[in-house]
Amino acid sequence: MYSMAPLAVVLLVVLIAGDWIAAGSAAREMLKDRMGSTAQVAAETVPFFLEAGQNLIQQLSNDARLYTETSPTGLTEILSQDLRSVPFFRQLYLLDESGNTLAGYPLGNYNASHPPPEELMGIELAMHGVPIQNYTAPPVEGETAAQVSFLATVVDEDAQVTGILIGRTDLASNPFTQPVLNSIRNIVGADGEGMLLDNKGRILFDPSAAHLMETYTGKTSESAAFFDEVAPDGTRRLVYYQPVVGHPWSVVLAVPARRAQQMALNIAAPLLGMVVILFVIGVALLRLGLRVVTASLQTLAAEANRISSGQLDHRLQVEGEDEIGQLRRTFEHMRVSLKERLEELNRLLLVSQGVASSLEIEEAVQPVLEAALSTGASSVRMVLSPAAIPELEGETLPAKSLGMGVASDTYAYLDDQILGLARHQERVMLNNLARIRVLNTPPDCARPDALLALVLRHESLHYGILWVAFEQPHPFTEDEIRFLVTLAGQAALAAANARLFQSAEIGRQRLAGILASTPDPVLVTDPQNRLLLANPAASEVLGRQTEQSRGLPVERVTAQADLLRLLRSTSEEKQSAEVTLPDGRIFLATTSLVMSEGRRLGRVCVLRDITHFKELDSLKSEFVATVSHDLRSPLTLMRGYATMLEMVGELNDQQNGYVKKIVTAVENMSRLVNNLLDLGRIEAGVDLQVETVLVHDVVERVAGALQLQAAQKHIQLTTDIPSETVPLIEADQGLLQQALHNLVENAIKYTESGGRVVVKVIAHAEGMVFQVTDTGIGVSPVDLPRLFEKFYRGVQRESKKQPGTGLGLAIVKSIAERHGGRVWVESQLGVGSKFYMLVPLRQPKQDIKPAGVKTRT
Ligand code: ADP
Repeated sequence: MYSMAPLAVVLLVVLIAGDWIAAGSAAREMLKDRMGSTAQVAAETVPFFLEAGQNLIQQLSNDARLYTETSPTGLTEILSQDLRSVPFFRQLYLLDESGNTLAGYPLGNYNASHPPPEELMGIELAMHGVPIQNYTAPPVEGETAAQVSFLATVVDEDAQVTGILIGRTDLASNPFTQPVLNSIRNIVGADGEGMLLDNKGRILFDPSAAHLMETYTGKTSESAAFFDEVAPDGTRRLVYYQPVVGHPWSVVLAVPARRAQQMALNIAAPLLGMVVILFVIGVALLRLGLRVVTASLQTLAAEANRISSGQLDHRLQVEGEDEIGQLRRTFEHMRVSLKERLEELNRLLLVSQGVASSLEIEEAVQPVLEAALSTGASSVRMVLSPAAIPELEGETLPAKSLGMGVASDTYAYLDDQILGLARHQERVMLNNLARIRVLNTPPDCARPDALLALVLRHESLHYGILWVAFEQPHPFTEDEIRFLVTLAGQAALAAANARLFQSAEIGRQRLAGILASTPDPVLVTDPQNRLLLANPAASEVLGRQTEQSRGLPVERVTAQADLLRLLRSTSEEKQSAEVTLPDGRIFLATTSLVMSEGRRLGRVCVLRDITHFKELDSLKSEFVATVSHDLRSPLTLMRGYATMLEMVGELNDQQNGYVKKIVTAVENMSRLVNNLLDLGRIEAGVDLQVETVLVHDVVERVAGALQLQAAQKHIQLTTDIPSETVPLIEADQGLLQQALHNLVENAIKYTESGGRVVVKVIAHAEGMVFQVTDTGIGVSPVDLPRLFEKFYRGVQRESKKQPGTGLGLAIVKSIAERHGGRVWVESQLGVGSKFYMLVPLRQPKQDIKPAGVKTRT
């Protein structure tokens, strides 16, 4: 309604404006008609009046007495009789042929000797024989309209003009013109003007008599015309101009334009009133009519509101056959189905809560069974196939089933049959079991009349079935099936969760068992270096119950510095260290990062008891050292006597050859013995004789000592020491020299003649690096990882040809490590090798001797 209001207002305005315009033009038309008819009547009256006057005066002039009677009194008598007999003229005069007054009745206020100028001219003409004339003349004093004079010649029997008869009348009092003037007065009213104009355009009559005999200045026309004009006082007026037919007179009627407006208002007002009343009635009726519709719509809206706010229990009144009635019915239908849907959703929510809240299959599926029972089934059963239950210790379990409902136990015997039926199809739906015989029912067992079995499947794994049974034949609706399928999905989820949990639990138990029975101590820390896990074996190492230590920072768990260093290490590499317990046992601890899906979960540390190996090792070292030591003197003797053999007598060539072989063998043996002794000494942990060593000095000495050996093999041996600095390091000069000697000697040994060996010193952030580069045979990749092991010799034929013990590099490694440094190698087979030895610039605080003081030869 409110949206229609502007349209209605526009319509109303158009109606009013149209009404006003129509009324305006109607009023104007009416006024024109009225003015036209009045003017017409007036115009028609004028000729009648003039002709009547002319006829009358002619009749009177034909009276013979007028020229027979001679006495003025007689003439006056005749005139007075004439005047009375015809109530047309108000004065009659008789002039002689020269224009002198003979008689007149009534003489009154008219001076016959001084006729008005218009009459004078007529008299003149009459004297010349013009029989009938008429003239207009100004009004007599006190009159309200012009006078009209009718002149007729008085002719005797001889047709001689003997006199002139003048009849005067004025328009205001003439009985012929009275009605016309009255109607003019009526039509123009007080504010308009009505005028009678003569041939000269002079105003003969106007109701106010204010402009008599003045010349009319307004617009004139040849024929009748109606036009708008602006009055001399500036107001608008409507003028009707009507010329008189057959006479040069005209009638002019003028009324102010507001008269037309007034009339228009008079015409339009009732119509406007009616329009407004109709409009109001229309609005009222519309409101009333709409109220009926809106009232029911409002109640409907209120009910819809209730539905939307969740109050679904309120029944809608379903009445009426109209559109609103239909709408109500639809709403009611919507409410009912919404309620059912919500209840179903609620049940499903409870079901999923139940499924999520427990990992025990029996507990988790209770809500599922309850919800399935709400469909009206008398039995709901869930059968879990044995394959879905995680096996413990490889034992196979029978199918597990759960049930609910009054007839649940009665129908339990059907579980296996239905499980078998559902093996090859997703769902088994039997609406009427009385008709289809698919189940084997022993005679003494009850049988349901309808059943629906749904396969429990989750991520393509078959967990079993969920089946509902009804006592009566039951047509399953789409909604019911959908609901039960959803429930089956939830049941499958519960089964999957339970299975997952059980497998995880079994896995966890297995791992815990393995860990508990592992004889080696195992420690696991989290990324914050707190003890996460420690097996019972670890409690021996930690010296406390592992249960109590769990969650503590590693610093509080153990005081073993080496172990702590390993546990706190952030390195991604595997790291090992020996840990000696207070009771003397030695463990080899190895830690590595625990990574899962790219994330660091902490570190795992496994310790192995190596006390026994350590003891064996030291026994072996001791034995080797003793044997080596004891072998030294006999070897020296053997070499001495072998070389002295030729001094004591002539030896033949063969004997000389044998002696040389003996010497070489003895030399090899003493080299081995020396090496073994060196290694033994170094490994035994004899204190380092640390002093400030000139790197330059060490390199030069080694290079100098081996120069000859290199030259014999035509190998170019050069050194490369940065000249701008004088590098000094803290080290045991003797050992350092021996290590470098071994490296350079190897380089010469394993380089073909004509090759090059360069000894280079590079300053590094961690210490001084000695680099020995050669252009020799190189190391094969299989040898690289084991090169620094004791007694390890390269597999290549060229390297086997060289005499050696396989201890040289082991000694280098031991020396470097004794100094806190390390050794490594880069090599390419057939191209050459680069051996590196890093020695830290400083050694731990000791009594360091100044450079140049030799402590060992
Ligand atoms: P030995 O030289 O007595 O055999 P080492 O411990 O000095 O024992 O060396 C071990 C092995 O390393 C050698 O047998 C050899 O195969 C290899 N090797 C050492 N130095 C070099 C080198 N500069 N170039 C090639 N191979 C080398």
